[in-house]
Amino acid sequence: MRFATESRAVNDDIFSAEHEELRSSVRAFVSKELLPHAQEWEAAESFPKEVFKRVGELGFFGLKYDEAYGGSGPDYTADAVVTEEFSRCGSAGVSASLGGHKDLATLYISNFGGEEQKQRWLAPSIRGEIVGGLAVTEPDAGSDVAGIKTTARRDGSDWVINGSKTYITNGAWGDFIVVAAKTDPDAGHSGLTLFVVEAGTPGFEARRMRMLGWRTGQTGELSLSDVRIPDENRIGDEGSAFYAIMQNFAWERIIMSLGQVTGAQLTYDIAKNYALERHAFDRPIGKFQVWRHRFADMATRIEAGRAMTYNALRMFIAGENPIKEVAMAKLYTAELAFHVADECVQVHGGYGYMMEFPAQRAWRDSRLGPIGGGTSEIMREIIGRTYGL
Ligand SMILES: Cc1cc2nc3c(=O)[nH]c(=O)nc-3n(C[C@H](O)[C@H](O)[C@H](O)COP(=O)(O)OP(=O)(O)OC[C@H]3O[C@@H](n4cnc5c(N)ncnc54)[C@H](O)[C@@H]3O)c2cc1C
Repeated sequence: MRFATESRAVNDDIFSAEHEELRSSVRAFVSKELLPHAQEWEAAESFPKEVFKRVGELGFFGLKYDEAYGGSGPDYTADAVVTEEFSRCGSAGVSASLGGHKDLATLYISNFGGEEQKQRWLAPSIRGEIVGGLAVTEPDAGSDVAGIKTTARRDGSDWVINGSKTYITNGAWGDFIVVAAKTDPDAGHSGLTLFVVEAGTPGFEARRMRMLGWRTGQTGELSLSDVRIPDENRIGDEGSAFYAIMQNFAWERIIMSLGQVTGAQLTYDIAKNYALERHAFDRPIGKFQVWRHRFADMATRIEAGRAMTYNALRMFIAGENPIKEVAMAKLYTAELAFHVADECVQVHGGYGYMMEFPAQRAWRDSRLGPIGGGTSEIMREIIGRTYGL
């Protein structure tokens, strides 16, 4: 009797035949144009910014955006397919950079920007001509979004922004950054507003940060010193930023979950292949019961993580606001991806600790999951509160 090793879960209700066609073309692009360079880019700790242009030419930034701005949507399911396939590119820094542009910066312009702002920043972003980032986190405030200290003060028809931001994906090379700032320090959650700050604006400086993982990414620390921008750069109403950020978190966290499940599956495959090749005590490591069971546990948890993520995706696409389901998927898959990477290091023995083997990269890259986009502790807070605790 033969056992199927591939998942047999049926997800036809989410992904149509057209989505699967799209998957094939994104996968072909990733395997021909990204994956072959992944090792070289990881070693260089950077990748060419022209990749954005190429992704734009292929239309992969525009699946969830209107045709009026050069997109082909809105189709969030198609966009989820793109994210899953980008996660196969062999470099988490590359997929995170593409995602930071596609799912953070541009989503704010699309959801909350006006017509002129969409033509100015969304349309060229979809074409991959400019690269964006989202800057909420600061040196003294991350989980506590309402606690940010960056200020934007009105001066005639302009705004003057002062403050600093940190860990900003694409921050070091972004052409435009969506910045959250306090416009009314006494208004708590209702005192935050979003602005677009373009690279080259006097007083705006960005510095690249070195990281444990995501090494090819251009994560940056931003300094804003008397940065003067016109009111046309304000995104949404004054005081609306906190609610905009909370609304967009749903998609950001679904996207992270999709990437984490895909990453866990790829790392599992690396670990399993090695466990079947490497012999000790006259048998493949993977044939020892302890490892067979650990692989069985990992495979089971990956299936569970995928099901939770697709459940949150289904609900999101149906127009619901699945706060609990999204938090559960983000929490579960972040911890899953790191667990699988840790097991991958362990099954490789000493090789797992060596920089030339991919296990360490999966381990370093997946460690971000329980921190970025809302920490695991914050996900547990959200879930606990939905149960009235
Ligand atoms: C590689 C990377 C990329 C990122 N990209 C971006 C980006 O593009 N844009 C952006 O704005 N931000 C970005 N971030 C920031 C990220 O969202 C924050 O790091 C995250 O929200 C946590 O905030 P913090 O680092 O300030 O930690 P803190 O909020 O200071 O938390 C420190 C610790 O305290 C815990 N903690 C905090 N509050 C509670 C609580 N109420 N109960 C229990 N425990 C609590 C946290 O869970 C954590 O373990 C990025 C971060 C990284 C590392």
